[in-house]
Amino acid sequence: MQRALVSEGCIHKSTRGSHEKWICPCGQHQAIVPNHKIVSPGVVNDTIKKLTCLQKGWLQ
Ligand SMILES: [Zn+2]
Repeated sequence: MQRALVSEGCIHKSTRGSHEKWICPCGQHQAIVPNHKIVSPGVVNDTIKKLTCLQKGWLQ
């Protein structure tokens, strides 16, 4: 997931505990992402929704 964020140009802003804050390239959207290897489908959908400016299908 973090790799997909980086390849879309998102910036890792900060880490709090096991969660990371990521900012999209346009700077208007942000998402809190758990830094586990396995991320639940609900978190994936939520991240896609929050980073709405990224093109469809950026995160599978
Ligand atoms: Zn954005």
